Amino acid sequence: MGYLSSPLSPSKDPPVPCAGYAPFAVSLAQDAVLDAIIARATPGSLAVLDLDGCLFDNRSRQVQIIHEFAAQAGHPALCRVERAHFSDWSLSRALRAAGVAEEFVAAVRDPLRSFWADRFFTSEYVVHDLPMPGAVRLARAVHAAGAHLAYLTGRDCDMHQGSHQALCRFCFPAPGQGATLLTKPDPRMKDEAWKRAAVDSLFELGRPAIFLDNEPVNANLFHQLCPDALVVFVSTDHSFRPDLPDPSLPAIRGFLRTSDQAAW
Ligand SMILES: [Mg+2]
Repeated sequence: MGYLSSPLSPSKDPPVPCAGYAPFAVSLAQDAVLDAIIARATPGSLAVLDLDGCLFDNRSRQVQIIHEFAAQAGHPALCRVERAHFSDWSLSRALRAAGVAEEFVAAVRDPLRSFWADRFFTSEYVVHDLPMPGAVRLARAVHAAGAHLAYLTGRDCDMHQGSHQALCRFCFPAPGQGATLLTKPDPRMKDEAWKRAAVDSLFELGRPAIFLDNEPVNANLFHQLCPDALVVFVSTDHSFRPDLPDPSLPAIRGFLRTSDQAAW
């Protein structure tokens, strides 16, 4: 997540290039993509799954950090911020969406940015993420069909332990049991460079057949490197980079199905 390390623009907010989280969105088209993912999972195949903004919804981690800042810095008004206030990686935009006054947003921008940066990319805080609804079910179905899972994340090696803990806590197929967690060896590496470098090693785990990622640049990279694989763009949020996903790639908003609607 190297290029996500500046969530608060120093002068102005960047544009919103992403759709934002819609974890409860369902459609027949999404049903078909989820079916296609499972159909591609066969013995000897490999499913490459991203974590942040893909299997996991990071907004709970964002809220946790802001509420800790609110308490420690004596700004209880910031406790108004909830998950739904995040439309992208801009903390200041989330504060405004929660009704925090513009003058106060400007006043806390720098200290909040520093507080956030000290915590967000740590094992201690990744455990605050919640899985996208239905993500565990899909991962388990792909795993049960015989595919090896590669959790290929932009998180760095210092976040490996917490990431492993979160996967196990929510009953994703556990690393070491037909699944492998691949974290970035050097925090200074850009995500795209890391994922490009990791592709060769993926072939040692299985035949890459499925890629899920919420970063357009990564989805396009996988499509370029493994044109026979099913690459799915998970449309949640992503970095402020201007890249768009290749229009030929199927996209989903989440992992729920139309049949799940019977429960609400
Ligand atoms: Mg991601």
